[in-house]
Amino acid sequence: MRRGRPFPSPRRLEAGDDAHVTQSFDAIVVGSGPGGATVARELSRQGWKVLILERGNKAPVTGSMAQTLRELWMPGRSLLVTDRFLAVLRAVTVGGSSIYFFGTAWEPAYELFDKRGVDIHAEVDEARRELSVAALPPELMGPKARRIMDSAIELGYDWQPIPKYFDQDHLQGAPMGSYGVPTYPAKWNARMFVEEALSQGAALLTGATARRVLVEDGVAAGVEFDHRGRTRRTLGSKIVVAAGGIGSPVLLRASGLQEAGSSFFCDPVVLVTGWLPGPDRGQELPMTAGCCCRMRATP
Ligand SMILES: Cc1cc2nc3c(=O)[nH]c(=O)nc-3n(C[C@H](O)[C@H](O)[C@H](O)COP(=O)(O)OP(=O)(O)OC[C@H]3O[C@@H](n4cnc5c(N)ncnc54)[C@H](O)[C@@H]3O)c2cc1C
Repeated sequence: MRRGRPFPSPRRLEAGDDAHVTQSFDAIVVGSGPGGATVARELSRQGWKVLILERGNKAPVTGSMAQTLRELWMPGRSLLVTDRFLAVLRAVTVGGSSIYFFGTAWEPAYELFDKRGVDIHAEVDEARRELSVAALPPELMGPKARRIMDSAIELGYDWQPIPKYFDQDHLQGAPMGSYGVPTYPAKWNARMFVEEALSQGAALLTGATARRVLVEDGVAAGVEFDHRGRTRRTLGSKIVVAAGGIGSPVLLRASGLQEAGSSFFCDPVVLVTGWLPGPDRGQELPMTAGCCCRMRATP
């Protein structure tokens, strides 16, 4: 990652859409969320010929209810319900769930990585610097959030302003409301990295749903995917499966790795709602302050 660099300005994603999938690539990246976009950007920066396959489309993000329902709340596509009635959400669009996320940048649960002998501290520090992670300025915390914070502190919780993936320089004067683009171009999202990858020569094929990784002599050699009603194949020296916590296990199982996803991890959000007496002062930015309660993992 490059250091101390401001976010690239948002613009339409155009380049590379007509990728000739019959050619072969140095790397095929499935998924353009934070995971896939980061890998595609890094590899294309190093001169690799990269193809990104993305199930969603690259329609400009308007923040409209219709688009949000289509990309984030579509049953069976982006909204999935487990057999224990747990609703799991993901966004199917270029940039993945980062398009709709709240830009909250908690510290990762390092202990999960430590258990496997993986040290990500240096990478996290680098990402924090590049993505200008910092708590929101106090003026962006609304009166309701402030009131909840005061109560929480009184109850003994370590309630603090939450660090965000926001370019603080672009936050000045931002109005209260949701984090929907385009009102908040300051919020980092993975489309920014996809754009960089494209400007470095990567190709992006949208509306392409990967079905399985093609394996030759035990080595991943390509991807089979559906595009515009046709099943197609493309070859690559490296295959990067970055279809998200829900999409990747499905793809890997279809490719022969039956155990993929068996230790599925998610960070459940518990929403607590309440009523505050007094005049309603309108909408506020969501998730401006809170505290992190680590739960002990069940064995
Ligand atoms: C509403 C919401 C709010 C969130 N808020 C925060 C937050 O504030 N802070 C935070 O750190 N995290 C937040 N998260 C979680 C965060 O967005 C995810 O952890 C992150 O996006 C995961 O990145 P990823 O690249 O692994 O997967 P994703 O972002 O899911 O990207 C995967 C991509 O792969 C594509 N894809 C899936 N299957 C296929 C296939 N078969 N073929 C081709 N393409 C495929 C998808 O369309 C998607 O674009 C939030 C998530 C949601 C849904």
